[in-house]
Amino acid sequence: MNDCPSNQEWKFSEILADPKIRARWEKVRKYFFMRESTYDMANRCNIRCEGCYYYEGDKQFAEENRDPAAWRELMRSEKARGITYVVLAGAEPSLVPELCEVCFQEMPLGTIATNGLKFIPESINYKIHISVWGNDATSFEIRKARNMLLRQIGNYQGDPRAVFVYTFTRNNIDQARQVAGILAENGCKLTFNMFSAPVGYDGQLRHTVSSLNQTRKIMTDLLEEYPASVLFSHYSAVAHTHQSGLHDLYSCSYPRMNPSTDIGLGRSFRQYRTDLTWNRAVSCCVPDTDCADCRHYASGSAVVTARLFRHAADPDTFKSWLDYVDTYLAVWVMGYEKGDNLCNHLVLPPGQDVF
Ligand code: SF4
Ligand code: SF4
Repeated sequence: MNDCPSNQEWKFSEILADPKIRARWEKVRKYFFMRESTYDMANRCNIRCEGCYYYEGDKQFAEENRDPAAWRELMRSEKARGITYVVLAGAEPSLVPELCEVCFQEMPLGTIATNGLKFIPESINYKIHISVWGNDATSFEIRKARNMLLRQIGNYQGDPRAVFVYTFTRNNIDQARQVAGILAENGCKLTFNMFSAPVGYDGQLRHTVSSLNQTRKIMTDLLEEYPASVLFSHYSAVAHTHQSGLHDLYSCSYPRMNPSTDIGLGRSFRQYRTDLTWNRAVSCCVPDTDCADCRHYASGSAVVTARLFRHAADPDTFKSWLDYVDTYLAVWVMGYEKGDNLCNHLVLPPGQDVF
């Protein structure tokens, strides 16, 4: 049930008059200080997955700088220019734990994106995002790794840093139920990502309108079936399975799509390669992804979150946005506990009339 008359114009103060909305707003706004950049830590990976965007474009050819002192200096200069949050990614950061350790010592807030096959020492107290691309048969087919989920759970069960990230492709939608059940049984946290095609990719994993609709349905089903395990919200499902990608819906604010150098991500965000260089023209959290097909969870965390004012239109839309931000913080920030979602039905993104 929508709790707002469609023709009413709401002031922000009227929306905040609801004590639950105000409490959630006060909870999430404490984290608005976070300013992210991302860093490729290694140009190697211990597996090779179909559709991996790291091995598109020229970033894969950057040499590795393996000097911890150089990384320490980089982190200090990043802090000096206002960066407060780091995402350590591409290709496989667990292969260079000594560099991740240096980053953590200098920059205590962050996340590591990993395939989870090699354990990252507990002294690196970042969130650890473990990629899951289907059940183990599918992982073997697409990622050429055996017993992947079992090995990932073996490494990270009971680890408060760990969030398993299930990436929906066109072909693994039904398998999410089986994977969610296994993760829930093992007390693991789970969130959802959408396969977003690299530039030029036209393979079998790319989504269609039908697969987007099916994915939205299973995301919301699993959210209801496994509320203690699944970190997600109805609006997260809407934003990431809409027929339009994130850029068309919300205007991506990463430098690659945003010429503004004055404010926000356009000003501060950098995507460093393994040789510690960066290039504004290609900087975003998922470089070499096709922007028209971008529904990636990392992109949404910045792009949807940045659109506060568009969502302060009525109580339901604002509650949906708060659920999205609450989810994003629970997934990306150590120690942040997700609250109950405030809006448990599907609300359209501002300005849209279809899902
Ligand atoms: S594990 Fe990640 S970095 Fe490695 S090949 Fe697969 S998608 Fe690429
Ligand atoms: S791939 Fe996504 S996050 Fe990157 S610039 Fe394009 S729309 Fe933005």
